[in-house]
Amino acid sequence: MAHLPVVQLTSIDVRLAEALQEHYGLTGELGELPGEVDLNRTVTTPDGRRFVLRVHRGGAEPDELALQADVLEHLAGRGATGFQRVVPALDGRTLPHVELPLGPGGELRVLRVTTWLEGDVWATAIGNDSVRRARASRSLGALLAGLDICLHDFRHPAAARSHRWDLARAAEQLTALGLIADAEKRRSVEAVLTTFRDRVAPRLSDAPRQVIHNDANDHNILVAADGTVSGLIDFGDIVETWRINEVAIACAYTILGTADPVAAAVPLVAAYHDVSPLSETEVDALFDLIRTRYAMSICIAARQIVADPTNEYLLVSQADVWATLQQLDADNVRIATMRLRAACRFEPVPTRRTVERWLELNGHLAHPVLRRDLSGAGLTVLDLTADSLDGRRLDAMFEIAELSTIVPVGRYGEDRSVYRSEAFATADPNERRTIHVGIDLFAPAGQEVVAPLDAVVHEVGCDLVPLGFGGILVLEHRTGDCDGGEGGTRFWTLYGHLSSVSIEGLRVGQRITAGETVARLGRPDENGNWPPHLHFQVMTDLCGWSADQIIGVVARSQWDVWRAVFPNPNLVLGLPVDCSVTVARDAQWLQRERRYVLGRSLSLAYAEPLKIVRGEGVHLIDERGTRYLDMVNNVCHVGHCHPRVVAAGQRQLAALNTNSRYLHDNLVEYSRRLADTLPPCEPGWVVFMVNSGSEANDLALRMARSFTEARDVITVDHVYHGNLTSIVEISPYKFAGPGGGGRADHVWVAEMPDTYRGRLRDNSCATGVAYAASVGARIDEMAATGRRPAAFFSEGILGTGGMMTLPDGYLAAAYAHVRAAGGVCIADEVQLGFGRVGSHMWAFETQGVVPDMVTMGKPIGNGHPMAAVAVRADIAAAFANGMEYFSTFGGNPVSAAIGLAVLDVIRDERLMHNAEVVGTHLMQGVHALAARHPLIGDVRGRGLFVGVELVRDRATLEPAALELTAIVEAMKARHILLSTEGPHHNVLKIKPP
Ligand code: PMP
Repeated sequence: MAHLPVVQLTSIDVRLAEALQEHYGLTGELGELPGEVDLNRTVTTPDGRRFVLRVHRGGAEPDELALQADVLEHLAGRGATGFQRVVPALDGRTLPHVELPLGPGGELRVLRVTTWLEGDVWATAIGNDSVRRARASRSLGALLAGLDICLHDFRHPAAARSHRWDLARAAEQLTALGLIADAEKRRSVEAVLTTFRDRVAPRLSDAPRQVIHNDANDHNILVAADGTVSGLIDFGDIVETWRINEVAIACAYTILGTADPVAAAVPLVAAYHDVSPLSETEVDALFDLIRTRYAMSICIAARQIVADPTNEYLLVSQADVWATLQQLDADNVRIATMRLRAACRFEPVPTRRTVERWLELNGHLAHPVLRRDLSGAGLTVLDLTADSLDGRRLDAMFEIAELSTIVPVGRYGEDRSVYRSEAFATADPNERRTIHVGIDLFAPAGQEVVAPLDAVVHEVGCDLVPLGFGGILVLEHRTGDCDGGEGGTRFWTLYGHLSSVSIEGLRVGQRITAGETVARLGRPDENGNWPPHLHFQVMTDLCGWSADQIIGVVARSQWDVWRAVFPNPNLVLGLPVDCSVTVARDAQWLQRERRYVLGRSLSLAYAEPLKIVRGEGVHLIDERGTRYLDMVNNVCHVGHCHPRVVAAGQRQLAALNTNSRYLHDNLVEYSRRLADTLPPCEPGWVVFMVNSGSEANDLALRMARSFTEARDVITVDHVYHGNLTSIVEISPYKFAGPGGGGRADHVWVAEMPDTYRGRLRDNSCATGVAYAASVGARIDEMAATGRRPAAFFSEGILGTGGMMTLPDGYLAAAYAHVRAAGGVCIADEVQLGFGRVGSHMWAFETQGVVPDMVTMGKPIGNGHPMAAVAVRADIAAAFANGMEYFSTFGGNPVSAAIGLAVLDVIRDERLMHNAEVVGTHLMQGVHALAARHPLIGDVRGRGLFVGVELVRDRATLEPAALELTAIVEAMKARHILLSTEGPHHNVLKIKPP
């Protein structure tokens, strides 16, 4: 408190120290802490703990003081983090009174001690770096939403007080207008406050109300060292009001002084909405509420400045407020609201869907916009992205357009990095407007342009030559009546690069009939020296623009808004060619959008997920071109995008793809080749083609059941066999894990032969036999209830079991138990097959057994979705019991061609030998590391299937899961991709292509 004289301060501090000791049993050093009305001190105890001591102002309402303490207790009770906690006095009171040497006779004041929160205040922690600001804003949005959820049911008599900083009461500040000296400022504030009173507040009358913090300003927000918001302090202004005010106030402070305030608000609003969804009404009011907060702040400051004209602090902080309010005043309110709506995933233009649906159904009625052949044969699609913009080729195309009837087409959604000049600048210095939102049709100058639908002339722009647009025509249409009647929803079409002369005669409001010629294409010298072409664009909203303001290329970061304002013009044109591009989005956007459009149970790898755009051999390449060594993808077995596999798929896809009910060489040849890779069995192998490993296991289970006429299944503990209902039931990794439904009655779990942590820890045959006894034991238990096994499922090395190799003789002994009881033995080779173990094509072969069925997937198609079951012919025969088996996609000619190419590559590139040699080298390297690092508890695996188990202590085997996660992240930072596995998540998984 700068206004208190020093001598008095000291005497107060002496008294405060005594009070702390007396009421809290705390001793420590007091430090200064600024406060607007209260007297604040930090307290540091000799053992290093820190607290905040607050001496409430004299005359403070007891109810209000209780409110502040109660809200913190409420939050603590909810387990909310990021807020101070009230430290009770020794007698249990939260707000003890002390006599302080203030004024002549001393004063009784209320004390409150709270915990200290680490972090710097936003005002100093966040600089001008927009990336840092966005990150902090996101975490602030999430924190506020979490806070408001906790406060939702917080009721307090004092919270309903009327508070001058309650945004809902902003209109009261109109009485301060006369105190604002600057006329422009006064006008702006008046406009904002009257808009608030007349339009915003009435619309919010039903908006959600609750107690909110009400003052997330840049001195109350704490930022941690990693740049995320760690806390929020000062509940002195809490009040019951509209919930959206919380967001508006936080936005108002965190966007101060930014180049594009709306862009700066978006991460906060989006993050709030993700945690606690806002309503459309709330979001629509937001832009006005932010402005209202500034207007209020200017009014209240004006009152304070009248009371204390020397208050420098106020004068300085107000400069930013006024500057940002001016920026928002100049902003396009419509677009700003669309951007905020898009941030919350509300339709930016509410009529967009109506217009698109109408055009989908009625677009066939539209006339071609040029009197040229716009059917497929007459069109040739151009690639105008920077990488491919070949000037000579372009010139040639335009010559073609001049000399022939061919129409070159420029695409919608295309990123044309050619737009680099200042004219395409955005508020973000790193971004240009580069995404094209029209479709271009190139044709000779003078070519007639035709109205596709009935229309009314909305605007004619003849004098836009300096902008490089030539003449522009905007026509207005309506959904509903095709005769352009008054009903329906309005939308607009735009025609750019016209000959100005050709549109001079058009009058705004003039009716146009579909098929009428409305303009002619302009010459290059009229339209920025581009070859003559029509830029055709559809608009669902005019955004308050005049023709010369309408943009034809937009910023990628705002694509959510613009794709709604400018839908795909091919809805009207109906060109039968590929003339639109899917706009690529950044990793951040994709990650968030996935949470809405994909099931949230779908997980992502890494704390900061990668956006991978290309694969090449053992490498994956991200959107920035960073190359990662892929050490974990066991699907792209013969290397990402192997050219022979790609070519085989492309060739067959171009020739035929259909189901297996027709004769085809590929399917039969592939089945023979696949069967040939297996050890011989009597009476031979039969192959079924399916689409996924899960499906292969499901089919195997069905066949086992029909062959044995039994139902029960034995599975090994901790393993995973797939995601189908039937297969989750036999996957302890799922049914016994989080969210799992527990073991089903027909499923029997055999002990995992864990030679690292289990009861026997060697790989001898005796150990194998001893573990297999668990399979025998389950069969005995089944028998005791009158049942017998249909099948026993096992992998040759246990993947989710932590890359656990099996002890010698395990499968042989287990199979013997199963077969003796009449069950069939199924080898799941989905993860391990196709030569990965190096010494053999199939992992079960390392155990010297021949199963009754083998299921295959993952690497079988090098990423193409396909899978297979190889089954003994007599079992397959039992399955042919009259019920037809059919899989729509299984065994189609494309899959079979790809499968053949994979087998060819494994053979021709001697990849099994490669797996053996590289795997041995890798294993030696990891063993050498293990000799130096006690963290490595075990190294196991075969070929290119290696597991490294990390432990904190080699004696207790305490799993080192956090350490492993850190290693995987650190390796990612070194551009090497790895992952984790095992029941304790502490096994490093290595299984590269
Ligand atoms: N079995 C095993 C051993 C697997 O590892 C997997 C996949 N992780 C599956 C079956 C299921 O395969 P898909 O995901 O293709 O259904």
